[in-house]
Amino acid sequence: MEFDDRLLSTRTIEPSDDPENLRPQRLDDYIGQVQAKENLRIFIEAAKQRGDALDHILFFGPPGLGKTTLANIVAAEMGVSIRITSGPALEKAGDIVALLTNLQEGDILFIDEIHRLSRTVEEILYPAMEDYEFDVILGKGPSARSIRFDLPKFTLIGATTRSGQLAAPFRDRFGVLLRLDLYKVEELEQIIKRSASILNIGITESGAHEIASRSRGTPRIANRLLKRVRDFAQVLGDGIISDEIADEALRRLDIDKLGLDALDRRMLTAVVQQFRGGPVGLETLAAMIGEEAVTIEDVYEPYLMQIGFLVRTQRGRCVTEAACRHLGLEFPKS
Ligand code: ADP
Repeated sequence: MEFDDRLLSTRTIEPSDDPENLRPQRLDDYIGQVQAKENLRIFIEAAKQRGDALDHILFFGPPGLGKTTLANIVAAEMGVSIRITSGPALEKAGDIVALLTNLQEGDILFIDEIHRLSRTVEEILYPAMEDYEFDVILGKGPSARSIRFDLPKFTLIGATTRSGQLAAPFRDRFGVLLRLDLYKVEELEQIIKRSASILNIGITESGAHEIASRSRGTPRIANRLLKRVRDFAQVLGDGIISDEIADEALRRLDIDKLGLDALDRRMLTAVVQQFRGGPVGLETLAAMIGEEAVTIEDVYEPYLMQIGFLVRTQRGRCVTEAACRHLGLEFPKS
């Protein structure tokens, strides 16, 4: 199965990711991430009281947890415009210059995958973030001259799955760093019920629980599974999602009780059977299932570690006894 096709993929599919507008619009509608949310509420309130722009913010955490959603909410709460772009989309100096010079006082510039910015763009951002000005050199050789641009006070919001990859001086320029964690099952239940009501899908409490507990702590996956299970409920049942229908649908989609799919199971099984449970290097793990190492780190591992199926040691990754029990494998005693 290609990564792109993987139902459990948490990859951002922009911009049609959310055609039904399942994204909450205000802080009060945003479910979970209580600590990050309450801190943000204070920072927003304080900036508004002072009539000031918000400090630069960096959101980090696995994909699909609501970083883009939060950036949009911050803009709505501050009553300012937001411009959205991503690290890989900003190649040349001109790309970022065009964005920066169009900002109004207080506006938000949101850069997704900010760890993938080019060095040139990053270096323009340093003085832009710190002093709201930057210099660009126009022309080459003896006729080259430097032009200074003054910017209004704006807020940069960055999102990344890997804050460790940002250069320290870059990270230090963000006044607020907020980490998003995988969601609890109860929180995902609320998200699923909210999405179901927006999409006009009938769902029982236990139906929502069944989908939530198989969504790997990730709202993007929860919403995706909700839509797939709806199809089964419509064709095989009376259209209402009960726990029986959800279980039947998810079993047919090959997603087990804990939200693992065939690829997770293949990876864990290979470590147990071929490497006596580990330790196995990240690259080996990636090669086993034909994925890139970064995908394993960003997409697969956070959840497998959270449920205690995989542990990271100094010498590599190890599969735990709990994982073996779940997979019906014997735990290699070594
Ligand atoms: P990220 O930017 O972290 O990859 P997104 O902000 O794009 O994640 O969120 C993915 C989807 O999950 C959104 O379309 C939104 O519908 C849903 N979502 C994320 N966080 C929440 C939340 N706290 N409450 C409700 N829905 C959420």
